[in-house]
Amino acid sequence: MKRERVAIIGSGPAGLTAALYTARAQLSTVVFVGRLLGGQISTTHEVENFPGFPNGTTGPELVENMKLQAEKFGAKLVFESVTEVDLTKGSPFRLKTDNDDEYLADTVIVTIGANPRELQIPGEKQYVGRGVSYCATCDGFFFRGKDITVVGGGDSALQEALFLTKFGKSVNIIHRRDDLRASIALQTRAKAHPKISFTYSTIVEEVKGEGSEGAPAVVKSIILRDLKTGNVYEKPTDGVFIFVGYDPNSWLFKGQLDLSVDEYMKIDSNMQTSIDGVFAAGEIHDSVFRQAITAAGDGCKAALSAIKWLGEREDTLQPLDAVPVAAAGD
Ligand code: NAP
Repeated sequence: MKRERVAIIGSGPAGLTAALYTARAQLSTVVFVGRLLGGQISTTHEVENFPGFPNGTTGPELVENMKLQAEKFGAKLVFESVTEVDLTKGSPFRLKTDNDDEYLADTVIVTIGANPRELQIPGEKQYVGRGVSYCATCDGFFFRGKDITVVGGGDSALQEALFLTKFGKSVNIIHRRDDLRASIALQTRAKAHPKISFTYSTIVEEVKGEGSEGAPAVVKSIILRDLKTGNVYEKPTDGVFIFVGYDPNSWLFKGQLDLSVDEYMKIDSNMQTSIDGVFAAGEIHDSVFRQAITAAGDGCKAALSAIKWLGEREDTLQPLDAVPVAAAGD
């Protein structure tokens, strides 16, 4: 069993920023990287809105730099996923990874984010970054003067469609029902916008693309099904933005930490969850802003709270080489 002062679950901008702060505060810090180093941002090709990069950067480059900076101060990145946690008995907390390694950590910072829901249709995965996107703020700029499709009928779809009108020649919102789920205020604004049109009771069944010689294939059209008439037809489009909801990765903590009705983690103003010594940062608690920079800011706040929490208990913390009570008789 390994012992750490801080265990950070997740390696996106929130987790790597938290690691930079706690490691720089001379606290032993382990980061459980999970399935994908960097999380969602590492799948974004161009990042133009993270401050400090006047010429922009790429998701993988941003993540690599954050990782190097955290490691420079001693953070240890472990390329495993946490599969079990026991937070109910209080600090120190027990964690187990998919490699069967066990850890004991005085504080835990949860930063495992949320994933945009996919449509799970042919062509969707293939054209991510080449016309299929789940983030208008990240990718809208690349669709200047283009015909854009938005899928979904909730607040995200309408709000992002309104944002995309800054770039696109037209924005068509495709919704599976006749009634939009979005708030009346957003509906009123979207319906009044000259660039926005709606296609109701319709689903996207396939994303299709083409390449030219030497250039990768990009989205050219979608196959639609009118759910009322059963009519299936092809419609040209340059980009498909999918906003059919987000799923926070909070399943590991169900029954242990307080979650909202839509399963985001509840935190207080110090980023502390419902358990003393367990903090959360980034999209695992934030269903609104969802930006790399807001996640990084959250990671910083959670780390500062964890540092303060440990500082207040400095005299009672077990040495890092102490044998855990349960293992003492082994
Ligand atoms: P949401 O409210 O769950 O809406 C998801 C939309 O996608 C719904 O219209 C749903 O259709 C549709 N959908 C779901 N699965 C689909 C599928 N497989 N194929 C086609 N369509 C599908 O998600 P959200 O818009 O991301 O909003 C999440 C939360 O954040 C909400 O509480 C929202 O109010 C909040 N939010 C607020 C703001 C704001 O206040 N400005 C902005 C963004 C988000 P149905 O309607 O038929 O179920």
